[in-house]
Amino acid sequence: MAKNWYPIIDYDKCIGCLACVKSCPHGVYEEENGKPLVVNPDACVEFCRGCQKGACENSAITYFGDKED
Ligand code: SF4
Ligand code: SF4
Repeated sequence: MAKNWYPIIDYDKCIGCLACVKSCPHGVYEEENGKPLVVNPDACVEFCRGCQKGACENSAITYFGDKED
């Protein structure tokens, strides 16, 4: 799907709450060692910000392809 849009985790900011993993209905993330891992970037929906806006309270998620960054 979206090869030009997928989340990037800033592991310095991430506290491992895993809200992003639970919030994404497209299987983009898996949990590994208590932290989210982007395992399926192609499944991310282009321009979706569900996990950034709706899940992460620590500003740990940005997006590859985001021109606002
Ligand atoms: S941006 Fe949307 S589709 Fe992509 S990982 Fe986050 S919740 Fe899932
Ligand atoms: S929601 Fe944010 S702080 Fe929580 S696990 Fe995901 S990236 Fe880390």
